[in-house]
Amino acid sequence: MASAAMPTVPLPAAPAATAPAVPPDLAALRGEVVALRRDLHAHPELGFQERRTAAEVARRLQALGLEVKTGVAKTGVVGLLRGDHPGPTVLLRADMDALPLQEDNAVPYASTIPGVMHACGHDAHTAILAGAAHALVARRQRLHGNVKFVFQPAEESPGGALPMIQEGVLEDPHVDAAFGLHVWSDLPVGRVGVRAGPLLACADKFELAILGKGGHGAAPHQTVDPIVTAAQVILALQTVASRLVDPLQPVVLSVGSIHGGQAFNIIPNKVTLLGTLRAFDRELVRALPGRIEEIVRGITAAAGATYEWKYTSYYPPTVNDREMAALVRRAAEAVVTPAGIVDHLQTLGGEDMSFFLERVPGCFFFVGCNNPAKGIVHPHHSGLFDLDEDALPIGLSILVGAVEDFLKAR
Ligand SMILES: [Zn+2]
Ligand SMILES: [Zn+2]
Repeated sequence: MASAAMPTVPLPAAPAATAPAVPPDLAALRGEVVALRRDLHAHPELGFQERRTAAEVARRLQALGLEVKTGVAKTGVVGLLRGDHPGPTVLLRADMDALPLQEDNAVPYASTIPGVMHACGHDAHTAILAGAAHALVARRQRLHGNVKFVFQPAEESPGGALPMIQEGVLEDPHVDAAFGLHVWSDLPVGRVGVRAGPLLACADKFELAILGKGGHGAAPHQTVDPIVTAAQVILALQTVASRLVDPLQPVVLSVGSIHGGQAFNIIPNKVTLLGTLRAFDRELVRALPGRIEEIVRGITAAAGATYEWKYTSYYPPTVNDREMAALVRRAAEAVVTPAGIVDHLQTLGGEDMSFFLERVPGCFFFVGCNNPAKGIVHPHHSGLFDLDEDALPIGLSILVGAVEDFLKAR
């Protein structure tokens, strides 16, 4: 995930005053989880190439006695734990992929693969989830239902969640709720970001070509000028967020690229534009591309130009269910106290956890991982990104707590 916290209300800068309350049996797993995270960090793999990571995860799940499926959406792994009592099924998800980036950290567990790095913390997610599997197997007599541990490929791109769903990960047994976490470099360790409703945005792309008729810069009346038309389109697109959408709805439309023309005295035939649309509301994301194209159509028609339009949807907004967010919040409060909870953190980055949360109620949450006192201050997707490993038992404890709450006797 890309980091782009909304700074309207400042985030806490310091770790919580109280030490996190990690239950002793989960604290005992810390060494195992840290060791796995460091091993994965030293051996990062890009999306759909997570073969070593998947083999390591599968080996651990099999050793725990889970029913394990490998090769789901190429490199995904699914482990199923059946609790001692019948009941619903909860899915826990971690992403396994690294980024095409050179690591600049000089730590003992630094990447051994040139140009590939776990710079988003997915090594931590995978290690936490493997640790949660270990913990929940040991606690299975408390579970009234099943836990499906989903290790997905390729979150950074092009997305492993949707192909896993298409290959049936939400069935057999049918999944009733889904939880996942992201370590978060904008939050200090000991803080947890959890909220109901939209958490991350869609991150869509549009490509637009405005087709006019070129000619001499001295005789514009003999041309259809795509540059002036493109200028009008760009300005009109600014009204999408400001005039078409409820002002209480965050929407961003940015034009990031414009190309056309080569000489000072020639009006060109064509101008091409690239842009992105980001929003939190699923309905809006469905409706807006059509409205944007109407603006383009009207302005180009008035100019006597034509256009080519291509809109590409990537990940949908990540939206948390109210009840499931409340459940995660209770689990998080038990670990970091109510003072450790941050409930206003949202980002216009995207996440393919969204595909799970479109289909089943659930909650995705942020586990703080920066620590200025230890020099751990660099953002996600930086060659200097690292995380305070104290975040690992915190994330693990919250996942285990959420599962036990969801699968308690009713
Ligand atoms: Zn990322
Ligand atoms: Zn990420």
